[in-house]
Amino acid sequence: MNVMFIGIEEVEMVCQFCNKKEIGRAFTFRDLETGDIIRFGSQCAKKALGFSTSSKMGKKLRADIEATFQSECNEARKAGDFSKETSKRLSEKRQNAIDNIIRAGF
Ligand SMILES: [Zn+2]
Repeated sequence: MNVMFIGIEEVEMVCQFCNKKEIGRAFTFRDLETGDIIRFGSQCAKKALGFSTSSKMGKKLRADIEATFQSECNEARKAGDFSKETSKRLSEKRQNAIDNIIRAGF
């Protein structure tokens, strides 16, 4: 499954792995082949992505957070935005995403 981690959301959703309705922490990804947004419950995300350990999944989540941060920085620069505010905002967003996955046990 070729996906990019978007973030953890607190939403009501149907887990796309087990099809159960869940309220709470959703691991949200973008399917890189179809562009679709997919959500898994916290218990299913690891299984759905085929990771045998939390540490392997954690590595993938961190790598995707870094890749998103880099591409957002590049986009801002390309748009001529070199401001400290933007750089601070993107750094905070990155840090929040990392804090969220740590809180979720990854
Ligand atoms: Zn599930």
